[in-house]
Amino acid sequence: MKIAQELSRFFKSELSPFYEQKELDALFFWCVEHLFHMSRSQWMLSNQLILSKEALNHFYSIVNRLKKQEPIQYILGQCEFYGLSFRVNPHCLIPRPETEELVRWVLDHPFDSALDIGTGSGCIAIALAKHSNATISALDISQEAIDLAKRNAQTNEVNVSFFQHDIFETFHSSPSYDLIVSNPPYVLHSEKERMKANVLNYEPHLALFVKDSNPLVFYQRIIEFSNHHLSSKGLLFFEINEQKAPDLVNLLEKEGFSSVLIKKDMQGKNRMVKAQKKL
Ligand code: GLN
Repeated sequence: MKIAQELSRFFKSELSPFYEQKELDALFFWCVEHLFHMSRSQWMLSNQLILSKEALNHFYSIVNRLKKQEPIQYILGQCEFYGLSFRVNPHCLIPRPETEELVRWVLDHPFDSALDIGTGSGCIAIALAKHSNATISALDISQEAIDLAKRNAQTNEVNVSFFQHDIFETFHSSPSYDLIVSNPPYVLHSEKERMKANVLNYEPHLALFVKDSNPLVFYQRIIEFSNHHLSSKGLLFFEINEQKAPDLVNLLEKEGFSSVLIKKDMQGKNRMVKAQKKL
């Protein structure tokens, strides 16, 4: 049997207890592309494959890590977001498709300056910098995330000013932004039960979870922050927990924001909100 077929059979038989068939296919070609620098069709058509011992060992180690449900993006250290390539590691969330939808929505609006709060890998800030002429800044509580985001900005050849900051601390400068965007932690601890091991065991809980008793804590703080650092008529965008949309709309209206609008994601879930600061 050809080595290409053998590897594919091995991959699928080792991992079929853990993943569905469709997912296995995607995972396999993801590895092939990364390890052997071959597209799906190149791989299918390859007759004489010569693989180094090193590449093969790497392949086996990936299979072992996948058995433990580690996300492929962390294993390969890379993922795609908004057509750009990002380095990722366990200090940041793996960028999600719904966050691409948020970026697309933000880009439908005019703005000259924007701040991304809780930037993680930098994906929102970097995609905004790539697709607009605005001045983009981004902050995160985690210095490791900031280091990673800076590297990602460099690789994608954009200018973003990244800085480490805990939004619960006083912000000692007084810039004003046309637009503030954030995908803060919003998954409730009570939702853990329905979550998959690959998220629960590997992604940073700091970036995911909030207490059931105070689910809007980050939103509340970012709204307060926006009262000082968003220009008049500036726009605030959030990614949200679908269950909390009505509460967040109330909060924004109570805090003096107008034109509050909820938007659904591709799965039909209330996933994003936009609000405008009054004068
Ligand atoms: N969308 C992510 C998830 O469902 C959560 C992101 C977040 O908490 N901000 O895993």
